Amino acid sequence: MIGSSLYLVGIKKDSNEYEEGASPCQMCRKLIINAGINTVYARINKTEYAEFDVEDWINQDDLLDGKMTY
Ligand SMILES: [Zn+2]
Repeated sequence: MIGSSLYLVGIKKDSNEYEEGASPCQMCRKLIINAGINTVYARINKTEYAEFDVEDWINQDDLLDGKMTY
């Protein structure tokens, strides 16, 4: 998985619509970092994706600031 991409889609259980603004939680970010994944693409709606550079999560680890971010 080193150097790979991960595609994330959130679907609302009750309405079956896309969860706009979905992004991995802190625990998942740690797993993604440790897996060596480079880029995460999160679906915003039917045509748009948000792109996350995993390197940014490594360099800006908000856990180091003592913040809880769920
Ligand atoms: Zn998670």
